Amino acid sequence: MFASTAQSPRLSERARFALSPQTTRLSEIVPDTFFSFFPRRPLLLEAFFEPFPNVHASSTNFNDHGRSMELSAKLAILADAAKYDASCSSSGGVRRDSRGTGGIGSNEGMGICHAYAPDGRCISLLKILLTNFCIFDCAYCINRRSSNVQRARFSVEEVVQLTLDFYRRNYIEGLFLSSGIIQSSDYTMEMLVRVARSLRQEHRFAGYIHLKTIPDAAPELLSEAARWADRLSINVELPTEGGLKALAPEKNLRDIRQAMARLRLGIDEAKADKKAPRFAPAGQSTQMIVGADASTDRDVLTSSTNLYANYRLKRVYYSAFSPIPDASKALPLRPPPLIREHRLYQADWLMRFYGFNVDEITPAGDDGMLDLEVDPKMAWALRHREQFPVNLNSAPKEMLLRIPGLGVRTVGKLLAMRAHRRLRYADLVKLRVAMKKVSPFVETVDYRPRVEPESTALRTQVVSPRQADLFGH
Ligand code: SF4
Repeated sequence: MFASTAQSPRLSERARFALSPQTTRLSEIVPDTFFSFFPRRPLLLEAFFEPFPNVHASSTNFNDHGRSMELSAKLAILADAAKYDASCSSSGGVRRDSRGTGGIGSNEGMGICHAYAPDGRCISLLKILLTNFCIFDCAYCINRRSSNVQRARFSVEEVVQLTLDFYRRNYIEGLFLSSGIIQSSDYTMEMLVRVARSLRQEHRFAGYIHLKTIPDAAPELLSEAARWADRLSINVELPTEGGLKALAPEKNLRDIRQAMARLRLGIDEAKADKKAPRFAPAGQSTQMIVGADASTDRDVLTSSTNLYANYRLKRVYYSAFSPIPDASKALPLRPPPLIREHRLYQADWLMRFYGFNVDEITPAGDDGMLDLEVDPKMAWALRHREQFPVNLNSAPKEMLLRIPGLGVRTVGKLLAMRAHRRLRYADLVKLRVAMKKVSPFVETVDYRPRVEPESTALRTQVVSPRQADLFGH
């Protein structure tokens, strides 16, 4: 699971902690629930011996019942509350390295660590909320005003110190910080900015910072957030304006769009002028909840297309709605199948890197939903049997990219090979492509599919039993 000591100077640091005589186990100070967010790193956490030595002075505050709350309890609550946010990717960041500066951290090499929660969601370390108190009442959100959950709030100093402590122990490469809205959007945004500013200015923290921002906060606060953070995100929440009005009436699509537009402008300006101050160098992203309202996959992908085109988002994250306790009657009782979220990511990928558009992926006239049994590229190929088999030796790159089972890198390799010689069936085998998926759709010098089956027969051939199980669940 981990590199050897010789390979990793960071492990030496962990080993140092592990050999320390102060052997308080993390499991004694952090509840079990917290461990469920780090399933890939149990050894790492077992090596976390010292309970946040630098936050003693401020390690308690008061919960919603007026009782003091230990830092470990707050951590459990606010890490749990953060798991519903899926937008935790670090792609596109710029190089930061504190070597020789007397500061701390680097975002090079390993990027941001990710773990997966038991429900399959991607979780990044350290991923927490500043608070799960909120004055808004978005129906789909466990932290909404009317929700009967235990509340907690970190101070700015606690978040800063936790980040540094986790970083020093090599558990994280950065911070993903979000928050419920307390007092006002500006007040909350100011708290988030203070965390990032303190990490960068006072502690010269060079790790990755992703701040979730509040769209109707003052533009100056968003600009300052962009100065300290690598990536900013503003959640669009639901695919349609109608959905937002119905389930999150206190949110305003116009504010969200305006904030995204401002960020895009700032990011573009900073990119154009090398001497300009940093401005969210890893760009902006957003998250959409899927399955909380009646929006179809076509609605979701249409919204994503507009977001990518208008605000140059790095990523749109799709988060399958999770039923929450005491939920509004407007919400479905069951979550959508997780495979729906997966298919949306595949479709999103096809639109960004494979030249597909929404109309091809979810044709008008259908029910607007993606096929859950097969991936969207395969579904398109099955609907367009007339376009296959594709001749690997003569087809343009755009058509090669449409062959099920061939990714961008494989297509690049095929193009490079065919510049020198004619491609044969064995070349595909050597490239280790999924032959069951690819072979019905290609022809080479020495191969042509024996029968060109009707779509239904071919479909049976390419649908794996595992996929069928997922569909049924
Ligand atoms: S504003 Fe955010 S935290 Fe507050 S209820 Fe809405 S989604 Fe939840």
